[in-house]
Amino acid sequence: MALTVQQHRDAAGLKDGLLLVDGQWRQARAGRTWTHHHPATGEVIGNVAVAGAEDVDEAVRAARRAFDESPWPGMRVGERSRLLRRCSDLLRENADDLRARQALDNSVPLSFATVYAGSVEVAADVFDHHAGWIDKAGGETFPPYQGGDHLAMTLREPVGVVAAILPWNAPFLLFAQKLAPALAAGCTVVLKPSEHATFSVLRMVELLQEAGVPDGVVNVVTGPGDPTGEALITHPLVDKISFTGSRAVGRRIVEASAGTMKRVSLELGGKSPAIVFPDADVGLAGMTTMGMVTLGLSGQACVAATRALVHRDAYDEFIGAAEMIAGSVTYGDPFDPGVMSCPLINQRQLDRVLGYIEKGQQEGARLVTGGGRSDGELSAGNFVQPTIFADADNSMTIAQEEIFGPVLTVVPFGDEDEAVRLANDTEYGLGAGVFTKDVQRAFRVAKRLRCGTVGINGFQVEPHLPFGGYKQSGLGREGGRSSFEAYTELKTVLLPLTDELM
Ligand code: NAD
Repeated sequence: MALTVQQHRDAAGLKDGLLLVDGQWRQARAGRTWTHHHPATGEVIGNVAVAGAEDVDEAVRAARRAFDESPWPGMRVGERSRLLRRCSDLLRENADDLRARQALDNSVPLSFATVYAGSVEVAADVFDHHAGWIDKAGGETFPPYQGGDHLAMTLREPVGVVAAILPWNAPFLLFAQKLAPALAAGCTVVLKPSEHATFSVLRMVELLQEAGVPDGVVNVVTGPGDPTGEALITHPLVDKISFTGSRAVGRRIVEASAGTMKRVSLELGGKSPAIVFPDADVGLAGMTTMGMVTLGLSGQACVAATRALVHRDAYDEFIGAAEMIAGSVTYGDPFDPGVMSCPLINQRQLDRVLGYIEKGQQEGARLVTGGGRSDGELSAGNFVQPTIFADADNSMTIAQEEIFGPVLTVVPFGDEDEAVRLANDTEYGLGAGVFTKDVQRAFRVAKRLRCGTVGINGFQVEPHLPFGGYKQSGLGREGGRSSFEAYTELKTVLLPLTDELM
């Protein structure tokens, strides 16, 4: 029987997606819409308004007014903390509904919707976390350079109007990692969800409204990069762009921001290595690594360790364990609790991943398992089999480029220096895993890796810790205090305490 999610769509009561401008939900001025097709079944899930330049301008001006003219940036700290905690409570209370919308958006299965990147609860925790920063947004006082009766201090102030642009793969977490610190700092926001994961984000925005976020403080423009994203990143009244997505769009944002010197935070892609030494629990390393590349998001995760660097003495055992995981992942209806992973998000991504698989074979890597589309009832969706390439060289395309699919590339190494050299031989620098029982080696290698996060014997990313990339994996950090501060400007204030001339 063909796979269908139609009954879940009807049960969720999805309405077509609208724009939110100054507290009003409405269609785009030009009446354009985008049709979302479900990645597992190809069925139409719904239509979403496509904001053109005029709509984006109205949304940015609403955010500008709310920042420049409303009491929002100066709200009492207690009131602001309570507001963020109400957001958090409402997210938790509506978790089931949100999870269903995510499954209708990107087909992330319910079984994965309690795990870090797919979890409403983690997103709610991020709101609670940032509620706690609001009364700690202090500056510093300094001994004045000229001595005597002077005060010298810094103040932290909100950066202003933020354009927050989301990818489709982790809408809950990334919504929270941008909105919670921006609102905690007193900024106003124009949010652009991905055109491939709009319905879950629109529901979260409704919940922020219900929590009492004032009109104009959070505005939403939906639609694809062209025209909606472009109009947003080039708008002169935006002070900061906070973006998570591909390196190509990240580069475009850096260019577009130069004209008005917007502040920019970028969370981009990666080609993160898992480095496996022979003294590690090699079976666990193989299962963990292949699990990250296949479970939940089918490798469509920025920080997935898609490049395994494995010592020659551990090589066969590692590949055996990875193969075992590849053979056990289940796909299908995201509402089925037995389903463990998802299809690729769209036809373009499907073609791209299959192209990389072909390239890997042409370049001479050994295909261990997978390598094609899934068949049977999965053939109407964008499903790709878990795929392992062994005996790869680190210079191959499949070892250098972000594939964003369930494809693991395994490269052998001989000693620690070679492992570190290979690990750093990439334009990216998002994350890395080190598998060893030798604690000195673990720290030695972790210190030598040029990337933002290192997991030792397991890869745990925690939402209250700084997360971000070295090199071309991004600019700045998201998570915890560092992201709260990234939504502020630092102002220096000097005050003589007497009338004597300085
Ligand atoms: P994408 O870059 O195609 O799209 C991301 C967002 O940018 C979408 O909302 C899209 O509509 C918008 N966009 C596209 N063109 C634009 C333009 N010219 N101007 C403004 N906005 C534009 O990325 P994606 O396919 O949605 O997500 C996958 C990418 O995201 C991968 O590279 C992945 O590694 C990265 N990612 C990074 C992190 C992280 O935290 N580092 C987390 C998740 C995903």
